Amino acid sequence: MMRRFAPALAVLTMLTVARAAAGADAGVDAGGVPFTYDPPGKLVPGSGKGRDDSKVYVPGIRFPMESGPAYANSQVWGHGGGSGPKNSSQCDKENFSYPWHDNYCESRSWDMPLCPSGTGHQGQDIRAATCEKDVHWVVAASDGKVTNVGSYSVYITRDDGTRFDYLHMSNVAVKEGDEVTRGQRIGKVSNQFGGSATTVHLHFNIKQNVAGVGMVFVPTYMTLIESYDDLLNPKPPVVDAGPPPVTTTEPTPPPPPKDRPTEEPTPEAPPAAAESGCASAPASASSGAFALVVGAMVVGAIRRRRAAR
Ligand SMILES: [Zn+2]
Repeated sequence: MMRRFAPALAVLTMLTVARAAAGADAGVDAGGVPFTYDPPGKLVPGSGKGRDDSKVYVPGIRFPMESGPAYANSQVWGHGGGSGPKNSSQCDKENFSYPWHDNYCESRSWDMPLCPSGTGHQGQDIRAATCEKDVHWVVAASDGKVTNVGSYSVYITRDDGTRFDYLHMSNVAVKEGDEVTRGQRIGKVSNQFGGSATTVHLHFNIKQNVAGVGMVFVPTYMTLIESYDDLLNPKPPVVDAGPPPVTTTEPTPPPPPKDRPTEEPTPEAPPAAAESGCASAPASASSGAFALVVGAMVVGAIRRRRAAR
């Protein structure tokens, strides 16, 4: 058990170190711009109270836009949003720049057990590389089955019950019941809102079963940061460590019959110098005595092991 655990722990430690290093230097996007992000739970002032939660709820997802750059920020409190700066445009460059801003738990009336106020925005708003609509592909964050296609939403549920929601897309390329694979195109970033329009962005939710709470919308921010970092800085595929290599763990086969005790040196005979590993050194009195003691211990140990079989 310990032998399996130790290599796994070592790999995990290495991954953690790699992730920490990536976080400290999160890389640059396609335009050479360094990716930066505000801490989780820090919302636009006046937009509610966020959840300070650094947990990556779903490690290893594909970032849900096919290519970067992309910008996570509030669409309602951002430029051009309903509560944003007056007379501002949703295409303001501020909306298409770093740092990212968390907007999980932003003021809304939805029941949200994990939000400090108990209600809030269910996921994260993400803008694509540019303000254009119907251009940038949204891709599946994970393998799964399309469990709902609404007038402006697509739900994809994977085998473990985790559900990913993609809202406001056009050119929806999947239908209910489809099995999709991680990275598969599912629609384009747009402003669909069931007949009316919102700003051009992808709203992304993750719904999971949380112990003691039930199926709830969980924070997506750190999960998205991890996946975006992977998009900007693809890492070599992690080789599955698998079971530890079989080397010296096989039980030693029993010695052939010729090694039976009857053929062993008698206890009085000194151990053969050639077997000691320091045969070329002239044996002094003390080293000879030491060799005798060690030799007796080795012979004793061999006998005990044989007796034990
Ligand atoms: Zn939203």
